[in-house]
Amino acid sequence: VNLSNQIAAGEVIERPASVVKELLENAIDAKSTRIRIDFIDAGLKQIIVQDNGTGIPSDQIDLAFTRHATSKISNEHDLFNVGTLGFRGEALASIAAVSHVEILTNSGGASGTRAEFAAGVKKAQEEAAATKGTQITVKDLFYNTPARLKYLRSPRTEIMKIVDIVNRIALGYPDIALTLMNEGRVLLRTAGNGNLQQTVSSVYGRSIAEKMLPFKSSDNDFEVTGLISKPGLTRSTRNFISILLNGRYINNFQLATAVMDGYGTNLAAKHYPIAVIKIKVDPLLVDVNVHPTKKEVRLSKETELSRLITNAISSALLAKDV
Ligand code: ADP
Ligand code: MG
Repeated sequence: VNLSNQIAAGEVIERPASVVKELLENAIDAKSTRIRIDFIDAGLKQIIVQDNGTGIPSDQIDLAFTRHATSKISNEHDLFNVGTLGFRGEALASIAAVSHVEILTNSGGASGTRAEFAAGVKKAQEEAAATKGTQITVKDLFYNTPARLKYLRSPRTEIMKIVDIVNRIALGYPDIALTLMNEGRVLLRTAGNGNLQQTVSSVYGRSIAEKMLPFKSSDNDFEVTGLISKPGLTRSTRNFISILLNGRYINNFQLATAVMDGYGTNLAAKHYPIAVIKIKVDPLLVDVNVHPTKKEVRLSKETELSRLITNAISSALLAKDV
């Protein structure tokens, strides 16, 4: 067993939802237009992520499962100019270190490749029939790390965490047709037609999507677009504010506060908005190398961006006179 892979796995792969997030982001980076996720037993028994993206050539499978090997950046400049969701080359190696992984992939040839890994070691690789794209099956997650298993919450909570992350990523990619299934039962299905309002409808339901207002604003550095709920439509937590920076779902207190300021959030009454905020920015203004899960980012000109968000939202609400 490769110890450093297990240590890295502890940082990147905390729970089944982390596996789903990493595999889903890889599928997106591979330019997939259709992605299907299916899990069993809150993801502990099995997680399958199937995409129609670029696939992986058979001679690059070992590399894909090697830690710090990434096909996405090649030099130091790229590290500060990250245009993909992944770039650390840690996810597949980390997942394989704590589970049984099977990959079936085809990068466009007549046939594809099937390979198997257990506890980070390759057990088999062979030519196999496959359509273009990649299917990764993760079985028996944390079977060799009992301490990690113990730390997990109830199956219900773990499923909620999977749904939450897939929902937020779905909101960031309205042009990808995403399906999430729990033991064959559909939890989320998006059309993938590029329409954000329809994606919100798939995620939160039609009655909510109908009460969302679009907003848009930009300056020299940022372009901000999104949807915000009309004042009557509130939630009791800030969890329904999703911020996507260049497609990456991020946690950012200051930007969430900017959304709430624009909305005129009533903190005392616990009336928070539902919102989807999509920010486009030159990757050079963003440092995603703060934390292994990349959920925290360091952003230049955060104050300017905050003001832009607050103004965009408050003027959208004013204009509609809602
Ligand atoms: P990272 O995403 O940071 O590069 P990962 O460990 O997640 O690292 O993936 C390693 C490499 O495997 C990627 O750089 C990519 O080349 C390849 N890869 C992983 N998943 C897919 C996929 N679904 N489709 C195509 N290539 C993939
Ligand atoms: Mg990745």
